[in-house]
Amino acid sequence: MVRVTTFNLRTLKIRSGEQFRDEREIQLQPLELGGQRYLPVPEKVPAELSITRASTGDVFELAFRVRLHGPCFRCLDDAVLDVPISAREYQAASPEVDEELRTPYLQDDRLDLSAWARDALALELPDKILCRPECAGLCPVCGKNLNDEPHEHDEEASDPRWSALAELKDRL
Ligand SMILES: [Zn+2]
Ligand SMILES: [Zn+2]
Repeated sequence: MVRVTTFNLRTLKIRSGEQFRDEREIQLQPLELGGQRYLPVPEKVPAELSITRASTGDVFELAFRVRLHGPCFRCLDDAVLDVPISAREYQAASPEVDEELRTPYLQDDRLDLSAWARDALALELPDKILCRPECAGLCPVCGKNLNDEPHEHDEEASDPRWSALAELKDRL
């Protein structure tokens, strides 16, 4: 079962020109990225939600920090990422006029904070999640972690195992 945090707009008692602000605990979901899984730790974070009402519509703002754990893109060791999120959505008072003026996270007066937080987080992630900026990655020859064991392979080295492998390759 997927647990999600929603906010019921029907409980909101604000008029045009007023703002609602509150701290909400948001249930975060794991993220799939490049076939790997990234987990928010903890999976519940406090977030600041603010809703500003105008005669033309509502502006929703959400701010929180998340710590993400998952494999490094280069060496597959644990990588930890701290991401500050600040997101904004808009819903026009009469959204039927224009689809662009509708937030996808609002359904039947319920704002899906978990889905919004997940998408906002995905947008803030770097192209490559690394354990450290200068991660050396895995050795393309032997597959060992170059951060733990920095080394190079001498092309000329005649390890009998390698030459046997090379021979086998030639025959294929
Ligand atoms: Zn790494
Ligand atoms: Zn190697």
